[in-house]
Amino acid sequence: MELTLESILLPGIDSQKPMIIAGPCSAETEEQVMETATSLASKGVKIFRAGIWKPRTKPGGFEGIGIEGLEWMRRVKKETGMYVSTEVATPKHVEAALEANIDILWVGARTSANPFAVQELADSLKGVDIPVLVKNPVNPDLELWIGAMERLNQAGVKRLGAIHRGFSSYDKKIYRNLPQWHIPIELRRRIPALPIICDPSHIGGKRELIAPLCQQAMDLGFNGLIIESHCNPDCAWSDASQQVTPDVLDYILNLLVIRKEKQTTENLHELRRQIDECDNSIIDVLAKRMRVAREIGTYKKEHNMPILQTDRYNEILDKRGAQGALCGMDAEFIKKVFEAIHEESVRQQMEIINK
Ligand code: PEP
Ligand code: MN
Repeated sequence: MELTLESILLPGIDSQKPMIIAGPCSAETEEQVMETATSLASKGVKIFRAGIWKPRTKPGGFEGIGIEGLEWMRRVKKETGMYVSTEVATPKHVEAALEANIDILWVGARTSANPFAVQELADSLKGVDIPVLVKNPVNPDLELWIGAMERLNQAGVKRLGAIHRGFSSYDKKIYRNLPQWHIPIELRRRIPALPIICDPSHIGGKRELIAPLCQQAMDLGFNGLIIESHCNPDCAWSDASQQVTPDVLDYILNLLVIRKEKQTTENLHELRRQIDECDNSIIDVLAKRMRVAREIGTYKKEHNMPILQTDRYNEILDKRGAQGALCGMDAEFIKKVFEAIHEESVRQQMEIINK
């Protein structure tokens, strides 16, 4: 099924820059939300995130502040001018979030793995025009991820984006969730118009991994980043080890190298033109060499000489190998190239002799 997509960009968000969403894993207290949001806004962040309802692996953890937190999100909008986003997992969440004027919704990884839950969400979003970001399901299943987006799209959600947050694995050596970059890369190939945002916080699970993961995502052409940021990360009620202060976030974002696609392509275009020119010259020279080889073939035929003269052949291979090495190439590579050229010369001479 083809997705019908419209831009997820909101007014005032620069389409030329990666879309940055930042904020705490969870809204905990009004003070924590306001302090974090105010600092992030002062760093130029335009979209705030905070989980209001938290899907926790085990019962007993902090399961989100709930409805009360939506009022704090309203305050964030009003006092900082940022857009606000949160996770929805049930139609009740959708209803409450829309009622509170949340600007962007996201579907969490545990929800997108469940087609029944996604269908319920899709049904509750019928006729609502709001950007929805769909996190990859916890298991590495691209079809399930695309399927979730199709369900929403069929219900009329056109402003869709994907969030790559890594895939669950039993072996959590480096990453909390394995990036498996080939999956979002394949998603880009399948649905080129779909924006993909990287969530380095949930992939890495640790602060130190955020910067390198952000850079990797930018190098792969992702359209944005969603990063967990908390005014006091060590004391966060959820995901403490993967959150950074707004200051650190700002530092990370400023160090990011965003490769300008246009300029890169222009430079690449010129270099590729030069490669084409070199290849044309190589073919021209080879053709000339073969003409000479055929002349030698005619000479050998006239003088009744054998085609293959091993001494001459060995001499050529050794000399060319050494010459190649002087020019910074591997002698063995050059020998291989000349073996192939010699083979073709012999074939051409055989044609002459057997005429
Ligand atoms: C989150 O963004 O805080 C969250 C719960 O993420 P995920 O669904 O990717 O685990
Ligand atoms: Mn989190």
